[in-house]
Amino acid sequence: MYDNEISGVKVSALGLGNMRLPKVEGQGEKIDREKAQEIVDYAMSHGITYFDTAYRYHGGESELFLGEVMKKYPRESYLLASKFPGHMMVKKENGMMGFTNLLAGRPDTTVDALFHEQLGKCQVDYFDFYLLHNVCEKSLPFYNDPEVGVVPYLQEQKRLGKIRHLGFSSHAISADTIDAFLTKYEGVFEFVQIQLNYMDWKIQDARGKVEAIARHGLKIVVMEGVRGGRLANLPEAQMERLRAVRPEDSAARWALRWLQGIPEVAVVLSGMSTLDQITENVETFREPNPVSQPEKELLQEVAESMLSWVPCTGCRYCTEGCPMELDIPRMITAYNGLKNGDHMAGYRPEEEDPSLDPGRCIGCGSCASICPQNIGIPEIMRELAQMLSR
Ligand code: SF4
Ligand code: SF4
Repeated sequence: MYDNEISGVKVSALGLGNMRLPKVEGQGEKIDREKAQEIVDYAMSHGITYFDTAYRYHGGESELFLGEVMKKYPRESYLLASKFPGHMMVKKENGMMGFTNLLAGRPDTTVDALFHEQLGKCQVDYFDFYLLHNVCEKSLPFYNDPEVGVVPYLQEQKRLGKIRHLGFSSHAISADTIDAFLTKYEGVFEFVQIQLNYMDWKIQDARGKVEAIARHGLKIVVMEGVRGGRLANLPEAQMERLRAVRPEDSAARWALRWLQGIPEVAVVLSGMSTLDQITENVETFREPNPVSQPEKELLQEVAESMLSWVPCTGCRYCTEGCPMELDIPRMITAYNGLKNGDHMAGYRPEEEDPSLDPGRCIGCGSCASICPQNIGIPEIMRELAQMLSR
């Protein structure tokens, strides 16, 4: 495993994202501790030092899990990153904060109490890297509110040694939002975590975001490098084109090698949920082997052939608030398949599973308001229902 640097700290080029750990079948977000532990142990014994979590991953269990499994390792042998969930918080009176969206229903808290709750769950005295979670057009008013004062509070925690390096993650629609936030807080943040892959280079203006971050001289932590698995499972026609150039390489390896060619990228996070995935990814990051210019052009053509796809990453944020308990990402996979003449990736409408019936969508829009990819889910449900009824 090769290393890169963020603010002079050596970080493994591949990081373990703890949002998609193996789950116990039929028990929602509940982590399969035994399988997840194997993945963490494999990571630690193969040079991965960067471990990323957040307050809400796995319904809040991800931080707890990491706190328990990392105890056996010396604190200085790994780098822990977590995130402040301000994108799902609102200001209340007397310094109190309430939760919204997927965190709605939790008791009100304060910035200080929440930060210390996270340290406690992770069983650490400090975070190596700490981020504002999803600085975007919707969350900016909260993060910038001087009465809430999240940023000055975190700067103080950094001064006290409880945070070593401050950054933020972002699913902002516009690169200008990231640029403006970095300008407002010039010198405060040391890195930015963004969604970056060869497909989003154009459709999410990831290129503009990389350029904005580079202008501020900062490093990038990548999320969704294989777009929630989408770029690991290409349509057969596209896969054949890649195989013609590198017969042995998987689609995931192509996507990760594309990222290795971007100089600002310090860490590529991957939410690896099986030992096979982590074994292959560790091999891909044994040494840098970025795509050549012709390979880059080939990937751009592959991306362009898929631009009509709905860019769902399978994060499942939308499913938690759906009153009809619909399996939205699986239906979007079906929608993409039908639209593009691809196989339907495990979706069988004849199963008569009510969670796979787009006709049950009541159009409440709760899903669309939380989707980080800004996907118009109710419209897609309507269109899919029509397509299936033909
Ligand atoms: S709009 Fe449809 S899919 Fe979205 S949350 Fe409401 S019922 Fe579920
Ligand atoms: S539709 Fe949006 S929120 Fe739902 S799984 Fe896909 S990307 Fe995530």
